[in-house]
Amino acid sequence: MTNIADLTLAQLRDALKSKSITSLEATDAYLNRIESANPLNAFITVTGDKAREMAKASDEKLAKGEGGPIEGVPLGIKDLFCTEGTLTTAASHILDGFHPRYESTVTSQLWRDGGVMLGKLNMDEFAMGSSNETSFYGNVINPWKREGDETPLTPGGSSGGSSSAVAARLCAAATATDTGGSIRQPASLTATVGVKPTYGRVSRWGVVAFASSLDQAGPITQDVRDAAIMLRSMAGHDPKDSTSVDRPVPDYEAVLGQSVKGLKIGVPKEYRLDGMPAEIEKLWAEGIAWMKDAGCEIVDISLPMTKYALPVYYIVAPAEASSNLARYDGVKYGHRTDNYEDILSMYENTRAEGFGDEVKRRILIGTYVLSAGYYDAYYLRAQKVRKKIFDEFTDAFSKVDLILTPSAPSAAFGLGEKSNDPIQMYLNDVFTVTGNLAGIPGASVPAGFDKNGLPLGLQLLARPFDEETMFKGMYALEQAAKVSARPKEWWA
Ligand code: GLN
Repeated sequence: MTNIADLTLAQLRDALKSKSITSLEATDAYLNRIESANPLNAFITVTGDKAREMAKASDEKLAKGEGGPIEGVPLGIKDLFCTEGTLTTAASHILDGFHPRYESTVTSQLWRDGGVMLGKLNMDEFAMGSSNETSFYGNVINPWKREGDETPLTPGGSSGGSSSAVAARLCAAATATDTGGSIRQPASLTATVGVKPTYGRVSRWGVVAFASSLDQAGPITQDVRDAAIMLRSMAGHDPKDSTSVDRPVPDYEAVLGQSVKGLKIGVPKEYRLDGMPAEIEKLWAEGIAWMKDAGCEIVDISLPMTKYALPVYYIVAPAEASSNLARYDGVKYGHRTDNYEDILSMYENTRAEGFGDEVKRRILIGTYVLSAGYYDAYYLRAQKVRKKIFDEFTDAFSKVDLILTPSAPSAAFGLGEKSNDPIQMYLNDVFTVTGNLAGIPGASVPAGFDKNGLPLGLQLLARPFDEETMFKGMYALEQAAKVSARPKEWWA
């Protein structure tokens, strides 16, 4: 029999419902895998006892023919989601010992629907990064390696624990968050599916804030069907998040397999970057051909503001972060320095010790662009350009239904290769940040491999709240790309 932990979430759900396996068996299979996969460093906290308790409760429901849509399915949770009574760190030293007294809306909805928590996944500190190298808890390793080359590679970031764990089958699916690309880029680098929903589709309540006007939670999964199932449980209006939108959550799984014939697919010429590997260019062309073969109409479009997206993002995101992170002062929770004389030196030394270099860089940039003398020149101007980026997408979506681009400008890279070069690191998100700035949904689907055997993804962007059309397109891409290779289990 195949290992239970090799099933997709959908297969596992069906096997649990038909009682051919129990949640406890599935949970133990994953806990064993997690233990043997220690070298990947995907988890910060493994909640084995809690998982087995939740699994037993699920099994009781399943035995009576009851339970929610994902009853008994073991999940990994990015350590940015507050989980009641379970250490929540945002991968930062400053949140040492933080055991929230409340549960984030997203995770509480997953438990409502029957999910089982395996533990908390590693990530970049406060979700700032593209390689998971800024975590206080150490690097996460990508289960994929270049053929014939032992160099440890990044699983992407900031949701690197989520992408690595799903690619290595350490959980049936994972939660993740995306402020500038942190769901889609790691998905692209690990041959997993990542969905960033429309801003407002998923509640941010109880998710440690990075940049509140850009942050959005979504799933990283093994395939498109699993992403549809996860998003349905994660999404929905929440009175506790005033930016969450009161619209019914569709059954995303129901649209999978529906024809994409007649859909108009936009191909923006500005996403053709100088110096982009030829293989990514080629894969994009293949993706265009697949959609055409499926009956879509391909439309060349232009999004000239794209070139300003990264600079705008690196003003807006740090500005919001500098404000959001002002709360970490060592007073009520988290790390507090031993080295202080008065309240001011307590704040200063706590923050100096508690935050890593990248987080400090963002706080410095953020306070600078918001300061009296520079607010108009940077922050206000960035907000104006952000509006133009939004308008450009609105205009594009009056002509096309979906936009197809590469997900990331490169395949997985070696640890340390970009960590001393913030500009190179920031370029990882060149294709994804536009979606956050405009608030539109975007997804990465595994589409092929480079010459070293490393995964590459393609991105679909859609109209606000039109995740259904996006899922239709994603499924069509997945069917055409037929990516089925798995990473070798070199760590086991
Ligand atoms: N890589 C981007 C950053 O460092 C985006 C991170 C994210 O989406 N959380 O800010």
